[in-house]
Amino acid sequence: MALVQKLKNFIMMDVADENETKKASVIMRCSTLFLYIFFTVQTVVLFVTGYPMAAIVSMLCLVGYIAAFSMTYQGYTILTQHFIELLTLGWVAAFVAIMGWDCSYQHMIFSLMLFSILTSYRNFLYKAVFSAFLCIFRLVLYFYIHFHPAVYTVDKGTMYLLNIINTFSTFLLFFIIAFLFSKDSMEMEEKLVKYNKKIEKLAKTDALTKLPNRRDAMERIEKLLKKSRDVDFYLDIAIGDIDYFKKVNDTYGHEAGDAVLVQMAEILKNDMGDEGFVARWGGEEFLFVFTTMNGDDAAMRLNDLKTKISQTVFKYNDITMKLTMTFGLEEYDFHNSIDDVINSADEKLYLGKTGGRNQVVF
Ligand code: GH3
Ligand code: MG
Ligand code: MG
Repeated sequence: MALVQKLKNFIMMDVADENETKKASVIMRCSTLFLYIFFTVQTVVLFVTGYPMAAIVSMLCLVGYIAAFSMTYQGYTILTQHFIELLTLGWVAAFVAIMGWDCSYQHMIFSLMLFSILTSYRNFLYKAVFSAFLCIFRLVLYFYIHFHPAVYTVDKGTMYLLNIINTFSTFLLFFIIAFLFSKDSMEMEEKLVKYNKKIEKLAKTDALTKLPNRRDAMERIEKLLKKSRDVDFYLDIAIGDIDYFKKVNDTYGHEAGDAVLVQMAEILKNDMGDEGFVARWGGEEFLFVFTTMNGDDAAMRLNDLKTKISQTVFKYNDITMKLTMTFGLEEYDFHNSIDDVINSADEKLYLGKTGGRNQVVF
């Protein structure tokens, strides 16, 4: 198992050059490793079945692919790609000329086309021209071998065996290249989806308190309104504003103010539970949306919360302080717009401020 992991790490090793991607190199490494095995088998089979000239070409190919494999670690991705293309074209032509058309060496041209399209950084025109070239190359090979006899007249048994090996290898190599390419794309897509979700969350969340921000609050309310025909639909909106918060900043500094806001947000969120949600409306103002009770019950809840806040000891380093909050509450009456409800809650908050603070106005 450890050996497999080591091999995997070795193949997945990043390229030396920052301008080149790992994906092309990984496809090249896997393809060349596969062809290394392919030519080892070929060499043995061709020697044993009595085609020494083909076996020697096969051995040369082995050396060529080992060189190509190591080149991907030297930062020569593009060079390696062209080297592999040339080498493959060379041996396909050589094997067809030596062993004839019926041993199926020419199928490798399909895998080569896929390889070139997926590993090349070139533009559409280059890829199209190269693919057309491969098509013509295959046709030329076909006609060449039908007018010039191959070096060997391969016996039926070997021909069957080589056909099986070559067809199987062509398909397997095709699969390896396509799989590696799609795997990379899928991973990239998955990363993007996760990243988008993260961005979306960031765009909805207040950075300091981690509460929903104003924008998210409005979106949530819009969504809630779509359920306004439900029999058990409630929507009460309150705005709470910390009393004399400026003093906290002026006395203990802005950082202390921030710490207090974080602590306050925690209290508000815990208190709200599943009854609705609380958002940071801006500065030291919070928006409360109750969805499970009428205005009177929400007013009672806020009064309890008001008492809880006034009894809480807020801490920042060694500093402790007491705070209060004033609330303006309005119930959605199915006629006014949400903006009207919020404005009304704001007006009531103002009344609470002028009326002595630390109170709930409904
Ligand atoms: P009132 O009882 O009338 O609400 O008095 P107040 O001092 O709370 O109200 P005011 O609107 O005069 O001041 C609000 C202060 O809140 C001013 C601003 O510096 C501070 N503030 C707003 N956002 C933040 C923040 O993110 N961090 C910190 N530390 N302070 C903030
Ligand atoms: Mg205030
Ligand atoms: Mg304020």
